[in-house]
Amino acid sequence: MPGSSSSPRRRKRRAAIIGGSMSGLFTAAFLRQIGWEVDVYERSRVELVGRGAGITGHPELLEALEASGAGTKDLGIEVPKRVAIDRDGRITEERPLRQILTSWDRLQQILRGTIDPAHYHLGRSFERVEQNGSGVDVHFSDGRIEHADILVGGDGIRSSVRAQMAPEVQPVYAGYYIWRGAPNEADLAPETLRTIYPLFTFYLPPRQEVITYPIAGFDNDLTPGKRRFNFIWYRVADAQQLRDMCVDENGVQHEHSVPPPLIRKDLIAQMHNDARDIMPEALLDAVMKIKQPFITPIYDFTSPSIVYGRVAMVGDAAANARPHMGFGMAKAGTDAQALAKHLRDHDDIDTALKAYNAERQPLGNIIVMHGRKLGTHLGVNLQTEEDRRMHDLLQSDGAMLDWIAVPHFLDAYK
Ligand SMILES: Cc1cc2nc3c(=O)[nH]c(=O)nc-3n(C[C@H](O)[C@H](O)[C@H](O)COP(=O)(O)OP(=O)(O)OC[C@H]3O[C@@H](n4cnc5c(N)ncnc54)[C@H](O)[C@@H]3O)c2cc1C
Repeated sequence: MPGSSSSPRRRKRRAAIIGGSMSGLFTAAFLRQIGWEVDVYERSRVELVGRGAGITGHPELLEALEASGAGTKDLGIEVPKRVAIDRDGRITEERPLRQILTSWDRLQQILRGTIDPAHYHLGRSFERVEQNGSGVDVHFSDGRIEHADILVGGDGIRSSVRAQMAPEVQPVYAGYYIWRGAPNEADLAPETLRTIYPLFTFYLPPRQEVITYPIAGFDNDLTPGKRRFNFIWYRVADAQQLRDMCVDENGVQHEHSVPPPLIRKDLIAQMHNDARDIMPEALLDAVMKIKQPFITPIYDFTSPSIVYGRVAMVGDAAANARPHMGFGMAKAGTDAQALAKHLRDHDDIDTALKAYNAERQPLGNIIVMHGRKLGTHLGVNLQTEEDRRMHDLLQSDGAMLDWIAVPHFLDAYK
């Protein structure tokens, strides 16, 4: 193999990876497999837990987990089908579709297990990078400098690596946000458990989407009775309304989102009132059992390039789609896999990074555009004839079951 670094003719190549979440860990695993030395630098001082909730187990994600060595053992809960329900809780449409639903914590735990702790560095915040043509000097806020052949930016949607390389590339607010939460299975009413709990369920009032499914409990417990229920409620809010929602319980204005414990009580009370007005009984039960609801504003962006010299971006830092497909993790895994493949297949690092950019930058665009297409359901900022056509199509429950978070959606673009 041309790029195999098991070749005796050269020293081991080294990557410095910024971000110790999904794309950083996937990249470390795949680069190590091709013989690279890798170190992951994560800004957080403590282990990453409890960041998200439910994650759709797309086939690409499952394949990447297997190939990375993380595996898919006890990954999550399989649902047999998806259903849409109406205000009275009656099923309006259903589709048999087996899908594994996992959780953010479970994925972080199994990927974290793939890296030698000596190469995973908490409390290291990237500050800037200098490139000298054949490598990078990476500067951290603690004053330390690391040298490597490449820098990988896996530091999320508001990447500091991207902020240095392409400051003009900024996330764009979609015009809607989600209320999320994960009530305990044990707290739910028997009727909720009997009807919607075991399924991938959609409830679609005008300009809103409620989506639920079962996920593992705390400490990834998959035992019936100890699991949780993933709850997502999409709602429309313009930029000014979002700004108002970003004022916290103490009157402090936040820029992007408010940490869950500081979300204003009046917003939660209003959310509960709105839920009482529109939700079927089982969903209302689920909302009211969420101990700490949180708000995630929806942003997306694409970038004209995801490689800048010896700096390569992966995962959310490279391109971030609205979460309608639940493909963020799968993209993190497949970006990392592609980067390692090109670095294995090309002896020259710059050629490999160009090939990575040529493959993944357009794919990132496709995923982001697909997310926007599905977002038309909410009726925000419909600009083109195609937007309006898609919006009209997605007003039917059946179409939403056929389009949202379904496997193999990228096949249509091949
Ligand atoms: C709150 C939340 C909920 C989510 N829910 C879902 C979901 O339900 N389904 C789904 O598919 N996807 C979800 N996502 C998205 C999903 O987590 C990402 O697509 C996936 O984690 C891949 O992300 P990533 O590793 O590229 O970035 P992230 O997970 O955002 O990780 C980036 C990491 O970089 C670190 N970092 C940032 N700046 C620096 C710096 N200067 N120096 C060092 N480290 C730095 C951050 O601390 C963070 O740990 C969610 C993301 C978040 C943040």
